[in-house]
Amino acid sequence: MAEKSLIERVRRRAGLSPALMTGIGDDCAVMRLPPAHDLLFTTDFTLEDVHFRRAWHPPEVVGRRCLTRGLSDIAAMGGAPVACFLSLALPSKTPQSWVDRFLTGLLGLAREFQIPLAGGDTAQSAGGIHADIVVVGEVPKGKVVLRSGARPGDSIYVTGELGGSAAAIRQLEKGRIRATDYPGHFHPTPRVLAGTWLRKRNLASAMIDLSDGLSTDLGHICEESEVGAEIDASAIPRAQVGHPPRRVDFDLCLHGGEDYELLFMSSRHVPELVAGVSVTRIGKVTRKCEMALVGLDGRRRNLVARGWEHFRKR
Ligand code: ADP
Ligand code: MG
Repeated sequence: MAEKSLIERVRRRAGLSPALMTGIGDDCAVMRLPPAHDLLFTTDFTLEDVHFRRAWHPPEVVGRRCLTRGLSDIAAMGGAPVACFLSLALPSKTPQSWVDRFLTGLLGLAREFQIPLAGGDTAQSAGGIHADIVVVGEVPKGKVVLRSGARPGDSIYVTGELGGSAAAIRQLEKGRIRATDYPGHFHPTPRVLAGTWLRKRNLASAMIDLSDGLSTDLGHICEESEVGAEIDASAIPRAQVGHPPRRVDFDLCLHGGEDYELLFMSSRHVPELVAGVSVTRIGKVTRKCEMALVGLDGRRRNLVARGWEHFRKR
């Protein structure tokens, strides 16, 4: 498929929004944004054999997960998404049906959040399929929720349940699985509504999305906020996945990545249900800059960040 005809196919399906004055087809997208807002920008790679495998992930799933990564970052700032951009590098022999189905997954999620695909780039890849998603978001001026706002004494909360995505990878390594038994992995929903709900009520002092794993992402907040944390193992909401459904291993909840839930801190009480998603208190922020885990046996030990990190020797 030639570059021009591919872009034409994308263009026909890209969607519109009132903010987008010019989308695909010119040198730049043109957007008119509401006054008194700050803009958010995030960019994330989705690389074949790093973030997905063609043998494991249907193209629709790759597309949905690709945009989920960007929307989840916007959610973690308390922002609302306004548009996305997609740069695609494809090996010359990529079937057109793969690209069409990838777009179906990506644009289906874009439609759920009413954002257009406002542009991108297309190139031939010498290696695997590479997709780079850019998401632009907005948040009322000065209201963004940063990683640096956690204070000693704040409670630590997570949305949803953890470990389900990592459990899917474990099972995929062993053999085929049914996607419907692992909805968090194959059909993730970025927590945009929960993020904006919390931000509007000033309920989050700090927030991050769980892409690398609880231990690693909590470490990012502790570092940026110059605080420590104490997590109560028994409180962590463990996903139930598989057939028949089973609670995932505790280690996967602590260190498994790509759950795309929100981890946030609050000095105030937060309801157990926010924008349709469960919220669980899992610990508290401490003054001393170290992470601790109160285990299922009641003993307190150091919590070491063992989530996903690129370039680390495994
Ligand atoms: P340029 O050479 O100016 O970068 P292109 O021919 O690459 O222009 O792109 C033409 C138009 O198509 C631009 O509006 C660009 O944003 C859009 N576009 C190209 N590739 C993609 C893609 N993969 N997804 C969405 N829009 C794309
Ligand atoms: Mg280009």
